[in-house]
Amino acid sequence: MQIEVRNLSKKFGRVSAVDHVNFEIEQGKLIGLLGPSGGGKTTILRMLAGLEKPDAGEILFQGNKVNHLPPQERGIGFVFQNYALFKHMSVFDNIAFGLTVQRKSKSEIRDRVHEMIELIGLQGLENRAPHQLSGGQRQRVAFARALAPSPQLLLLDEPFAAIDAKVRKELRTWLREMISRVGITSIFVTHDQEEAVEVADEIMIINQGRLEQKGTPWQVYKEPLTPFVAGFLGESNLLHNPAHIVGFESAPRPHSEKARVLIRPEAIEVGREHEISNLSAAALGIVRSVQFRGSVWQVEVEVGEHRLLAHRTLEKETLLPGEQVAVLIHSLHLFHDEQSLFLE
Ligand code: ATP
Repeated sequence: MQIEVRNLSKKFGRVSAVDHVNFEIEQGKLIGLLGPSGGGKTTILRMLAGLEKPDAGEILFQGNKVNHLPPQERGIGFVFQNYALFKHMSVFDNIAFGLTVQRKSKSEIRDRVHEMIELIGLQGLENRAPHQLSGGQRQRVAFARALAPSPQLLLLDEPFAAIDAKVRKELRTWLREMISRVGITSIFVTHDQEEAVEVADEIMIINQGRLEQKGTPWQVYKEPLTPFVAGFLGESNLLHNPAHIVGFESAPRPHSEKARVLIRPEAIEVGREHEISNLSAAALGIVRSVQFRGSVWQVEVEVGEHRLLAHRTLEKETLLPGEQVAVLIHSLHLFHDEQSLFLE
C-alpha cells in the first residue's frame, strides 16, 4: 500500500507531539522511524493505525483519505511491544485470531494458519502456549498473527525491545527477509540506530515532533540535512566554532550562531608524518586517546582548540597518547542557516 501523510499534527495539552509532518511511502518499502525518546514516533504510528486522532492533517492510503476510518477498517497489522500474545491461547489460535474476527471458514483459517506457521518456521509448535516459547519465537508468532488477515500495511512499534541482544540481531535479519518475501509496506519504530540502518529501506529521523530527514540509511548518513541528524546517526565531530580548519580555509565561513561543521571520523586521516597522504595540507595534533573499536582504531586527537575523533585502520601501527601526529581532513559538511553543504 502506498501511504501519504500531509501536515499531520497532534498536541497533548501543550506538548506538540507531532508537528506538521509530511511524507510519502512507496508500496512495499520497509521504513524505520528513528529518533530520541519522546520525539513523536509512536504517536505517528498510532495515528496511521487510527488509534489516535490527528488534530490536523491528512492520512491517505492509496490516495484515499482514511482519517475517519476506525483501526479495523484500515487494513493494518500490528506488532507492538506491548501487544502481547493471548496467554491462554495456543500458537494456532493466536495466529487464527484475526481470521476468526473476519468470520472466515474453518478450512480457510486452517490453511492460512498453516501457511503462516510455515512462513515463520515454527512447524510442530502449533499447540504450544506462549509461555512455552522463547522470546524470539513469541515475536515470530506475533508477526504471523499480524500478517494472517493479509493486511496492506504492517506497523511495528519497538518489536524487539524486550529481546536480548543476540536474538534481537537474528530477528532483525529474519524480519527483513520475511517482509520482503511478503512484499508488504511496513513501518517500524525504534530508537536503535543500528537496527534502523541494518533493516530499513529508508529511515525517517523524528525529533521534537518534526521529520528532520527521510532517505536511505546511506543517504541520511552521507548527506545529513541538519546538525541534529548528523549527530544522531553515526559518529560525528560537530564543531560550533570552526574558526580555522586546515585544508578548508577557503570554504565559506558560517556566521550564524546556529552554524555547525560536521566531520565524520572516517574523513579524518591521522598518523605519523611519513604516513600522511598530503602532508602539506595537514595540521598538527596531539593524540589524547586510542581505543580499539572492533574494525578500526578510534583516535581522539587535539587540534588547536578542537578535539576530534578520527578512525585509523587496524593494519597501521597503533598511535600512543601524547604523541604528536599529522591530521588531514578529507571532507566536511557545513550547516549554515537552513542549508547544508558538503565539501571535499
Ligand atoms: P519513545 O521512543 O520514548 O517511545 P516516541 O518518539 O515514540 O518516544 P511519543 O510516544 O510519540 O514519542 O511521544 C511524543 C510526545 O507526546 C512526548 O512528549 C510524550 O510525552 C507525549 N505523549 C504521547 N502520548 C501522550 C498521551 N497519551 N498523553 C499525553 N502526552 C503524550
